[in-house]
Amino acid sequence: MSDDLDDLYQQVILDHNRSPRNFQKLEGANHVAQGYNPLCGDHLKVYLILDGDVIRDITFDGTGCAISRASASMMTSALKGKTVAEVKQLFKKIHDMVTTGNVREDEIGKLAVFAGVHKFPARVKCAILAWHAALAALDGRAEPVSTE
Ligand code: ZN
Repeated sequence: MSDDLDDLYQQVILDHNRSPRNFQKLEGANHVAQGYNPLCGDHLKVYLILDGDVIRDITFDGTGCAISRASASMMTSALKGKTVAEVKQLFKKIHDMVTTGNVREDEIGKLAVFAGVHKFPARVKCAILAWHAALAALDGRAEPVSTE
């Protein structure tokens, strides 16, 4: 890891990487999708239980770098109880934040820790991978989504 990347690894990201939340296969999941980031080698699978329009439960597993794992961990925590429309709105904000660095902290809460990745284009894909997988799961796409 280069020195330049050090400030990406803030405490909260390290914590979520060490003990990721919702890191397990989800029994009874009715929407599942995989996300693959060939640039880094991150390979995550997102499981969710959609009840009508609401995410009742969401988990992930797989392998990936600290940023992809921490992002998936925080995403699953953030999306539980959200509607599909809310998820899509939040995705737009997260995507905007990780590509531009603009933070609307009141709206995205702790997910703001990923704003720093915009300085590292290769890392943007790590941070957004789980989100792509979650959207693919909601859309019912069966084939793995790739960040390429
Ligand atoms: Zn990665």
